[in-house]
Amino acid sequence: MPFSTLGLCNPLLLAINDLGYTAPTPIQKQAIPLILAGKDLIATAQTGTGKTAAFVLPILERLNKERTLRGKRIRVLILTPTRELAVQVAGNVAEYSKHLNLSSLAVYGGVDSEPQKQRLIAGVDILVATPGRLLDLAHQRALHFDELEVLVLDEADRMVDMGFVDDIHKIIERLPTERQNLLFSATMSDGVRALADDFSDSKVSKPA
Ligand code: AMP
Repeated sequence: MPFSTLGLCNPLLLAINDLGYTAPTPIQKQAIPLILAGKDLIATAQTGTGKTAAFVLPILERLNKERTLRGKRIRVLILTPTRELAVQVAGNVAEYSKHLNLSSLAVYGGVDSEPQKQRLIAGVDILVATPGRLLDLAHQRALHFDELEVLVLDEADRMVDMGFVDDIHKIIERLPTERQNLLFSATMSDGVRALADDFSDSKVSKPA
């Protein structure tokens, strides 16, 4: 089954081809059509299965298809447990979106927040963030979520283990209730299930 049957636009297929991917991985085959259909998704997927492309590709397709006039507000928020993962996911977003006119940014703690704020003011379509820094920036009124369409929790089990559940709840409270929710986790612990219960309309996929 080639990528071209999944309903992705040519600029995305070109970027995939540039990276040398020849066929979608199992999680990509399962998740991409569901996400393109606007469904919520709770998926168990280990690192190395291609899970990042499984959510980033359909999200980019959606953003590209439904262009907003304003273009300055965050449309997608991807939460990650660590700075390293935030940087890695943002790097993937940049690679997959290189033929599209969309902007992305990673924000995380341990560095000066001022350059991050300047980038946010300039306008960002896709924000990848660790929970603590995201809340800091929100308290500084540097974030506007009124145009948010998609929330992704990546490596949700690690976020639970690292004690981010309260922060995640505080973040969710700031988001529009009408949105697409995607949760990826290597394992499905009770903590992850409790977090997932906050999501509506969810579909549980088989382990990849
Ligand atoms: P991830 O599971 O998201 O950490 O991805 C693991 C690695 O697989 C990354 O280096 C991706 O660039 C790569 N990758 C993702 N999807 C594919 C694919 N369909 N074919 C080949 N490599 C892929």
